[in-house]
Amino acid sequence: MGKTKVVVIGGGPGGYVAAIRAAQLGGQVVLVEKEHIGGTCLNVGCIPTKALLHTAEVYEEAKNGSECGVITNVKLDFSKAQSRKNVITKQLVDGVKSLLAANKVKVISGLASFSDKDTIHVKTKDGKVEELRADRFIIATGSVPVMPQVPGIDAKQCIDSTGALELQEIPKRMVIIGGGVIGVEFATLYGTLGCKVTIIEMQKEILPMMDGELTKILRSKLAQKNVNVYTESKVISIKDEGTEAKVTVELSDGTKKVFGCEKALISVGRKTNTEALALDKAGILNDRGRITVNEQMETNVKGIYAIGDCTGKSMLAHVASAHGEVAAENALGHKSKFDIKTNPSCVYTNPEFASVGLTEELAKEQNIDYIVGKFPLFANGKSLIMDGGTGMIKLIVGKEFKEILGAHIIGPRATDLIAECALAIGLEATVDEVIATIHAHPTVGEAIREAALAEEQRAIHIPNKKAVLS
Ligand code: FAD
Repeated sequence: MGKTKVVVIGGGPGGYVAAIRAAQLGGQVVLVEKEHIGGTCLNVGCIPTKALLHTAEVYEEAKNGSECGVITNVKLDFSKAQSRKNVITKQLVDGVKSLLAANKVKVISGLASFSDKDTIHVKTKDGKVEELRADRFIIATGSVPVMPQVPGIDAKQCIDSTGALELQEIPKRMVIIGGGVIGVEFATLYGTLGCKVTIIEMQKEILPMMDGELTKILRSKLAQKNVNVYTESKVISIKDEGTEAKVTVELSDGTKKVFGCEKALISVGRKTNTEALALDKAGILNDRGRITVNEQMETNVKGIYAIGDCTGKSMLAHVASAHGEVAAENALGHKSKFDIKTNPSCVYTNPEFASVGLTEELAKEQNIDYIVGKFPLFANGKSLIMDGGTGMIKLIVGKEFKEILGAHIIGPRATDLIAECALAIGLEATVDEVIATIHAHPTVGEAIREAALAEEQRAIHIPNKKAVLS
């Protein structure tokens, strides 16, 4: 029998990981990408945002250096920050290209769409059309920003996240429409670099999927960084007035307020990028473009898989990659399932904010009997050294079996620390097991163990009455 022919459509963190995994398992793999290998994540998403956020972090640290005895005359060279971001992005994209080549994945540049369930055609930039047949298809076409139907949304001052990554100067004022992860990260970036930022969010709170108590801590930090937040507020129009736009907002109390800004970032969410695929020609079930899959990442059509943002599930790069490995393994005859249980959500603010498992809000909603263990980071030596001790660790623990159900961290390096908690949830670890694990000193990670101790009313570095509040 010959090798299984696998065609992967889309070269983002879902598609390229699926292609490599399928090749590792002996597949003959072709990857079709219409634009840039690395997809949203490497080119206009995770990596470029974090590269610029790193600049903001260094800038802030340098400005506040005198507290640590470092006196500098700090100046921002944003064009240098932009070039550094571009160099990092290119290095990673080139790295992925080499990995694909090393795994003998053939890459075709062009736009793919289905002719039927066994065939796609690929239109290349020079107008040629190539037909490809395969035993298995893995669709990984990602997502694109949603543009809400607001009068004036096409004003020249309105930008999406890709536009916000390309600015060559720091605007004086920016209105950010949408207080989700992307909006809040750009608010951190431009607010730290001196822009007066206003976030307009329709829901009760920014970052609604995160723990509300910890979000309040973030709100107070954002306020110190030139970021004003209006929740339960709605943009009703945008007007181009030459050098600035006027954004009219209906506030939570029903009054209207006009915000002037040089840039209005539209970050109200993303939608699946499946229109060009002609899914109906292959009979692939979808809900308004969100491809329906089972836990093997297979669609209703046998042998056709869909992964990452185009499924409309948790739109995160690490989810896309995890989907990709599962789909490739199933496509090559193995048995693999995707489980969302250990999926962390990270927000790269300053301090960082990360979460895995149940929030307290969800535990209440689901009538789960839980206990909270909390540890404030002002009582953690390393946090105090690094950023003055802002933040908190909060564990949600099952009352009967003491298993970790959720973990929420706001503080330095939260996005790295959350991995320990994800592992604990994956292993169904109890607080006792976290307590029995020796954590290095001085680290921020020690505070995770202290939060577990707090749940047991035996935190060492904080009076226990204060540590356990629920
Ligand atoms: P994508 O990365 O979108 O890749 C899809 C690829 O398919 C694209 O390259 C596209 O050109 C190609 N394609 C589409 N249609 C076709 C077609 N018909 N034929 C051929 N090719 C096609 N996630 C995180 O986990 N952490 C973060 O910090 C983070 N930060 C983000 C910041 C921003 C500003 C944005 C916008 C997103 C961020 N994300 C982050 C989300 C993350 O980028 C996405 O979840 C991830 O890229 C999804 O991967 P994917 O492979 O499903 O799709």
